[in-house]
Amino acid sequence: MKFRGGYNVLLKGRPDSAIKVMPEPKVLYLPLHSKRFTFSDICVKDGQAVNGGDVLAKDPDNYAIPLLAPRTGTVRLKAVKNYIVLEDVARLEEHADIAKEKILHTERETGVAGIKRYKLLSLGAWQFFHDAFTAALPDPLGTPQAIIVSTVSSEPFVARGDVQLHRRLLNFTRGLEQLQSLLEYQPIYLAMPNITSEFANLIRNQIRGYAWVKMLEIPLTYPYGHFAILARRLGLKRSGGPVWAVGTEGVLAADRALTHTKSCTVKIISIGGTGVNLPTHLKVMPGYPIQAIKDKYVFEPAARVISGGILTGDVLTEEALGIDTECRGITVLPEMEEREFLGFIRPGWDRDCYAKCFLSSMRKPFAERLTTGLRGEPRPCISCNFCEEICPAGIMPYLIHKYLYADLIEEAEQARVDLCVECGLCSYVCPSKIDLRKQLIDAKGLIEKEKEEIRQEQLRREEARKQSEEKTE
Ligand code: SF4
Ligand code: SF4
Repeated sequence: MKFRGGYNVLLKGRPDSAIKVMPEPKVLYLPLHSKRFTFSDICVKDGQAVNGGDVLAKDPDNYAIPLLAPRTGTVRLKAVKNYIVLEDVARLEEHADIAKEKILHTERETGVAGIKRYKLLSLGAWQFFHDAFTAALPDPLGTPQAIIVSTVSSEPFVARGDVQLHRRLLNFTRGLEQLQSLLEYQPIYLAMPNITSEFANLIRNQIRGYAWVKMLEIPLTYPYGHFAILARRLGLKRSGGPVWAVGTEGVLAADRALTHTKSCTVKIISIGGTGVNLPTHLKVMPGYPIQAIKDKYVFEPAARVISGGILTGDVLTEEALGIDTECRGITVLPEMEEREFLGFIRPGWDRDCYAKCFLSSMRKPFAERLTTGLRGEPRPCISCNFCEEICPAGIMPYLIHKYLYADLIEEAEQARVDLCVECGLCSYVCPSKIDLRKQLIDAKGLIEKEKEEIRQEQLRREEARKQSEEKTE
């Protein structure tokens, strides 16, 4: 497989490979919104006592994917807006929320494969699945043309796949087997780094003999583990049907749900960045108080806290109280509130840059201590072409930026803005500090909205035509 673009972003503050278990919380704050999900269908009452694994709410627009109670506790619905708060939290015997009659009914309706899919959905494992092309939640009852499993998460500083796999290799291979049982003849592609690593050898030895798993060895370069990039490099076409995509966490969740019928309410997230005293991995559950993590790990008084990595994460505001179900890590960067005096004449021995314009390019590769400082002023595009060079999707971000600046949406569409996988590398390397990623995401949203409006208008016209034909008859 030939990859293009990509970049190894070397930064200080990467999480180490240890997994620390956070103390049991007294209160959990479960967000009703995350990147993909909105749990608007509330299934519990204020003051209700719930067990771990009980369904608190569902997302009606995403196949009724559930928000599960990670622990036993008492529900508070009105304590904090946009959260279900769980008070008096205790860790009791786990309770899987699948009623026996419901299982029998589903099995009669859909067969063994149907019950497996139902378990994945209702036990919280399905939330880890993506459509490789759109990143949306795939239809759990659909049939994919292939499954892509990526053990690579190379974005700084999100939870690493090898850490999530730590001592759970058997669970992982069993999870792969469970995934295979959902398919007929479709392949599973397992993307993993560098074949010379000890980790890669361990996995290869475990899955030897599983002919249906095709291994892909991909370099640890960001964002080669991205599902859309992998699907394209594998030559999978959207027209061939959905491609399910899942990371290490998802395979382990599939094993937990299908082998043990247990709910998936534990997460391994990273805590990293140069504002953190001990970058590492944490075992937590959705709803875990963010403040408790900050109190323990963040030493910078003025820090920007990001949910996810630095290239694709979202800034967490003070209102964000608990970890959401999709969180992959927390990144903390010292906030640069003052401009650097005569920063532009500093030789930059300690700063790395894609343009190799600092003296640091004479050093061996090194991990830079990144802050939120932009090192310079936003300015118009200088046509350096770095964004095109680095873009793994093979598009020309600067050209699309120019089209968007001139309000030429159709031209942006023709320049294949839809291929953007939102990796953020173009924004990272741009010397003019243009937030290309955000511009491209906004443009994709706008184009999609316009297309949807046209679709709706066509449906309305069709409906009106049918009605008028009926009247004439
Ligand atoms: S245009 Fe999209 S895919 Fe290309 S580098 Fe920018 S964010 Fe990544
Ligand atoms: S990296 Fe920035 S300045 Fe360079 S061509 Fe792209 S948009 Fe223009």
